Amino acid sequence: MKKVVKFGGSSLASAEQFRKAGSIIRNDSARRYVVPSAPGKRNPEDIKVTDLLYQCYKQAILHDDSEHDFEELLEKIKERYQEIIDGLKLDLSLEGEFRIIRENFTKKAGRDYAASRGEYLNGIIMAAYLGYEFIDAAEVIRFGENKEFDAEKTNEILTERLKHTEKAVIPGFYGASEGGKIVTFSRGGSDITGSLVARAVQADTYENWTDVSGFLIADPRIIPNARSIEVITYRELRELSYMGATVLHEDAIFPVRREGIPINIRNTNAPEEEGTWIVESTCQKSRYIITGIAGKRGFCSVNIEKDMMNSEIGFGRKVLQAFEDQGISFEHVPSGIDTMTVFVHQDEFMDKEQKVASAIHRLAGPDAIEIESDLALVAVVGRGMKSTRGTAGRIFSALAHKNVNVRMIDQGSSELNIIIGVSDSDFEKAIQAIYEIFVEVQL
Ligand code: ASP
Repeated sequence: MKKVVKFGGSSLASAEQFRKAGSIIRNDSARRYVVPSAPGKRNPEDIKVTDLLYQCYKQAILHDDSEHDFEELLEKIKERYQEIIDGLKLDLSLEGEFRIIRENFTKKAGRDYAASRGEYLNGIIMAAYLGYEFIDAAEVIRFGENKEFDAEKTNEILTERLKHTEKAVIPGFYGASEGGKIVTFSRGGSDITGSLVARAVQADTYENWTDVSGFLIADPRIIPNARSIEVITYRELRELSYMGATVLHEDAIFPVRREGIPINIRNTNAPEEEGTWIVESTCQKSRYIITGIAGKRGFCSVNIEKDMMNSEIGFGRKVLQAFEDQGISFEHVPSGIDTMTVFVHQDEFMDKEQKVASAIHRLAGPDAIEIESDLALVAVVGRGMKSTRGTAGRIFSALAHKNVNVRMIDQGSSELNIIIGVSDSDFEKAIQAIYEIFVEVQL
């Protein structure tokens, strides 16, 4: 058995958290490859080391008067690591590393280099703490000269490097070009490194340890104590992530998905819990008919009316052309006999609304155009909906009971999701109503 374990920033924010991670790893001899993030927040007011590094680098590249802030910030970063080393009683000094980092910062080694040091140093500590080999991600994660990630080259190098390595720590978030220039993934990118390592070693499982017990059915800011999802498919995850639910970096899915390696999201602070399994396909029914609910705010609808629209060939294309010409992407396009509605992101659309409206008039000659703002979309996602009658009916009666007016309905052709448009002020109420009817009623 081989498992790749990635620990997020809050799981490694202090010596105490490191100890929890250490005992999780030691508890299962299959946990042979460890991918750490940089130390995250120890409490809600704290600052992540990655953010301190960005700030510090900013000061380093400014001139003279910023010298003081630069030194102070670097000292603060050093202290965070020292606290972990002392707390773990490790015989390890990062003095030499900090000397090099300081020098490279003053030589303007780049923002990516700066940010990557968070994971790099945490990796050194983790390797010393576990007695695992340390492998610098710069050697095994490959980017092109234009900072584009090279998946195949990386897989080749990583596979070869890890073939005979029994146990190793590979820091997350960064890699390097062939010439040695450090490049990072986008924020949260350690998830991607974990997935790449899992692919390279053909792991049985990619465990992603964080500070929540898996992927929650709904946003805990809207549903306090929301239950977690036991098993979710990649497609369901994609639908929910698109609608704003975040646990995992989006690009972390592809490398493991292509190899059929499941991802297990776990909680470092509650390791006894199973967390969420993310899989390609499953015959396991979800405990509730729905798998999850997510939503996004900030939409506008453009309602277009024209008599006999349904018999006019090319009407839809002309309307959408008006949006395309202004570089605006649309989210949903429900239509009726003489009406068609285009849902767009309010912030993209606002400055261009009159241009779009006049283009629709010019291209499609409608009878009327009406624009509504402050709409929200709620997605109810679940593989179980396909085979269950009455899901839509339950959703709408729950919403009606809570006095939520439904402005739009769109059921994806895969029957995996139902998307509902509501007014922004009803957003939370709508999610609560749906959660109640599918989850709480069944408890
Ligand atoms: N440390 C990086 C960040 O804060 C990457 C990560 O944690 O995944 O975004």
